[in-house]
Amino acid sequence: MRQRIAVVGGGPAGLTFARVLHRNAPSGAGAATTADVTVTVTVLERDPGPDARPPGGALDLHEGMGQLALEKAGLLAEYHALSRPEGQAMRILDPAGNVLRDWRPRPGDLANPEIDRGQLRDLLLGPLDVRWGRGVTRVVPGTEDGVLVEFADGRQETYDLVVGADGAWSRVRPAVSPVTPHYTGVASIETSLDDVDHRHPDLARLIGDGSVAVYGPNRSLVAQRNSGGHVKVYAKFRAPLDWHTQLGLDADLSDTEAVRSVLLELFDGWAAPVLDLLRRGTAFAHRPFHVLPVSHTWTHVPGVTLVGDAAHLMPPLGVGANLAMLDGAELAESIAAAPEDLDATVRAFEQRMWTRAAKWAHITTEGLNRLVSPDPAEAIAVFDEVQPA
Ligand SMILES: Cc1cc2nc3c(=O)[nH]c(=O)nc-3n(C[C@H](O)[C@H](O)[C@H](O)COP(=O)(O)OP(=O)(O)OC[C@H]3O[C@@H](n4cnc5c(N)ncnc54)[C@H](O)[C@@H]3O)c2cc1C
Repeated sequence: MRQRIAVVGGGPAGLTFARVLHRNAPSGAGAATTADVTVTVTVLERDPGPDARPPGGALDLHEGMGQLALEKAGLLAEYHALSRPEGQAMRILDPAGNVLRDWRPRPGDLANPEIDRGQLRDLLLGPLDVRWGRGVTRVVPGTEDGVLVEFADGRQETYDLVVGADGAWSRVRPAVSPVTPHYTGVASIETSLDDVDHRHPDLARLIGDGSVAVYGPNRSLVAQRNSGGHVKVYAKFRAPLDWHTQLGLDADLSDTEAVRSVLLELFDGWAAPVLDLLRRGTAFAHRPFHVLPVSHTWTHVPGVTLVGDAAHLMPPLGVGANLAMLDGAELAESIAAAPEDLDATVRAFEQRMWTRAAKWAHITTEGLNRLVSPDPAEAIAVFDEVQPA
């Protein structure tokens, strides 16, 4: 018996899923085999190649979540060799530039080390044979030969199970759920600084080894160190979704200087060294925060499921990739253990995933409301609640 599985999306969820299945592959690339069942897994990724887009900011992978997923993939030691435990450091300032908190990890603290997204992707890719440039447009369950997958170039393929790991704007999701993400009311503008230690040593000191966050009423500025002296800066604030076009900016924020002056006005009165994060940032990108409903579930559809952001997009408060990887690892492990009954395996997995995701969606929704709130003291309280003394 042969089970043909496609995972749509080569992000943290899809690659972890494929890699854990691959680990159970005595018979060669992409295939897991028990006595009488062979499972083949195909990764379908829309991007034309691994470096087609600049990766987002570094991820901290938590013990018991992202790290557990990497353990299931047999990659934990390699992750620890690549990751930066010192990147867990967190400094909090008030808008006047006063340091309110300056937390550094103790030596040997491996609770949440940071890893660049590109490094994580390459680690997970390893021997996987990803089919790049395969943008999926639609998934139709229940055809005679299984689940039909339609591609942007008009091609079609069929599989026994399609796993939608294609993120926030999933094209697999409509096959199981009519729900689409909604805007949280919090906009985020991303910019970056390169070679910060040499080109901006003052900002390198401000940021330290990890991140610096500055909280004001209904807005915040966060700078996060990635490897190689690269820094990601996020300006977050409450605004309507079309705030930028209302102000005469173009939709993709291509006029860098116009965006900069709008942001400097928005953060007017904040300390000069803090505003330098915006003054010296390179191009700006608009990343408004969208979410799925806190308890997003669906009536089980044989042959199709979702993992990661496609299933439970939530505010980006440091758990989305962790959950995505854990989903992928657990589903793969369950399939490898009982490949003869994919449907029962997927049904049971969905129940577990929904329970866990709903818990974190509650926590992160409340967290976002407190981190971007009229009272900046709320943001400090969030930090004090989650950070070990
Ligand atoms: C600013 C910010 C900071 C964050 N920080 C953290 C953090 O520190 N820790 C953390 O755990 N999480 C963090 N997150 C959340 C995290 O990025 C996501 O939860 C995580 O990337 C979800 O992984 P995924 O694999 O489900 O989806 P994605 O990472 O979105 O991957 C989806 C993949 O599917 C591909 N794809 C999309 N559509 C198609 C299609 N139609 N056909 C084929 N392929 C397709 C995409 O190209 C992509 O490769 C952050 C998010 C943001 C926005």
